[in-house]
Amino acid sequence: MKALVYGGPGQKSWTDVPDPTLHSPTDAIVRVDTTTICGTDLHILKGDVPAVAVGRILGHEGVGTITEVGSAVSNLKVGDRVIISCIKSCGHCGNCSNGLYSHCLGDEGASGIGWVFGHLIDGTQAEFVRVPYADNSLHKLPEDVSDDQGVMLSDILPTGFEIGVQYGRVKPGDVVAVIGAGPVGLAAIATAGLYGAANIIAIDLDENRLERARDFGATDTVVSGAADWKEQVLALTDGAGVDVAIEAVGIPATFTMATEIVRPGGNIANVGVHGQPVDLHLENLWIQNINISMGLVNANTTKMLLKLVASKKLQAEKLATHHFTFDQFLEAYDTFSRAAETKALKVVITR
Ligand code: NAD
Ligand code: ZN
Repeated sequence: MKALVYGGPGQKSWTDVPDPTLHSPTDAIVRVDTTTICGTDLHILKGDVPAVAVGRILGHEGVGTITEVGSAVSNLKVGDRVIISCIKSCGHCGNCSNGLYSHCLGDEGASGIGWVFGHLIDGTQAEFVRVPYADNSLHKLPEDVSDDQGVMLSDILPTGFEIGVQYGRVKPGDVVAVIGAGPVGLAAIATAGLYGAANIIAIDLDENRLERARDFGATDTVVSGAADWKEQVLALTDGAGVDVAIEAVGIPATFTMATEIVRPGGNIANVGVHGQPVDLHLENLWIQNINISMGLVNANTTKMLLKLVASKKLQAEKLATHHFTFDQFLEAYDTFSRAAETKALKVVITR
């Protein structure tokens, strides 16, 4: 088969590799019908994630059709159309029992981490992928949910909702600020209303993305390059700050921004993946009664979010801005890596 193979920092190729095979009775093989590229894949290609070995097939998002199941797979069969969750979960280890699928202790990758695709084992940017613990790591897709919609449920929507909105403890009437209106920030914006956010302020450097944020439910937008960005945000509150500040960029500056706009008693939910140490001014923050959260997505809300997509309460398909076929994979990477110019949110690649 063909797959997108990591060749070390700065190097990738769409090339021939052996087809995947079942390793364990709980595995399934899925023919990938649709996949996409994540900001995390770009981090890997920069060499920021050293755990990714040369020769690894990248990708952790996808929709596909099951072509083979192991003898212990009981809920799924050949021919089922499924969402491939970015997090594998055995479903019964101590962490999975507590819903902490991101720290599934099942032996895949032997790491105690749920994110294995395109990281510790071969991923979804390929014609076929082996999925461990298929019963828990795949979600059957109803016929009326499209591939474009389904692929947003692999990672983006659960991440914005779980690590942004739920960890941020959004509650009815809250003013929520989302710093970074990329696909993950937009997913937080799109789902903050589920817990009754009254106002959602999108903050980004890119005016195009701020415009898109309004399509997903932002009530206000602030250009963070502006000298008075903070005053603009505070003016949209009672003056004391936002109830919840969600960081969806992953750089020190934006985490600090979150600490500057949150009200006493408020919540900061860090979603961004950080590659650098970040200053935490506890000497100022301790007295503000602020809750700070962070984490790797669990994808324990995928089934619930799928229902909202199926009932058209969440317009997941609006995140898909560019379409490619597998033989255009390198072009898809190029378009996604120049998002500011190409106005790409998610690039969708189909067989
Ligand atoms: P992205 O790069 O597409 O979007 C980031 C956005 O931040 C862009 O719109 C950019 O213009 C904006 N930005 C950059 N600097 C800014 C600044 N100074 N002020 C305001 N906005 C600024 O990324 P994405 O795919 O949306 O992902 C966002 C983050 O979430 C990344 O760090 C990604 O690795 C992370 N992520 C985390 C998890 C998790 O489980 N915690 C899962 C998936 C992705
Ligand atoms: Zn991802």
